[in-house]
Amino acid sequence: MHELSIAQALVTQIEEASRENGSGSVIAARIVVGGLSGVDADALRFAFPIATEGTSLADTRLDIEEDPAIIACNSCGARTTPDFPLPLCNACDSVDVTIEGGQHLTLASIEMAQ
Ligand SMILES: [Zn+2]
Repeated sequence: MHELSIAQALVTQIEEASRENGSGSVIAARIVVGGLSGVDADALRFAFPIATEGTSLADTRLDIEEDPAIIACNSCGARTTPDFPLPLCNACDSVDVTIEGGQHLTLASIEMAQ
């Protein structure tokens, strides 16, 4: 499962961020998942507890914010959000598009216990 390796990478990233913020435990981590990042938010929600099992993040809550993809069409000029995780214009189905957002998975913030 693709999302499990992403969740494991997130665990490493969250642990590093928490070390920079002191020694408390991490209550919650908020991530932003882009619509074109290739990551399935539901699968990631499922994978996160598996990836954190036995780590210092076993009780950490994962908050996922979905960032819709925005693509600008070079054929018809429309700026749309595709229905599928594919960079296609939603107005004319052109593949001649420029992706303007929603491509990344980002760790937005972590909430630490005092
Ligand atoms: Zn178009």
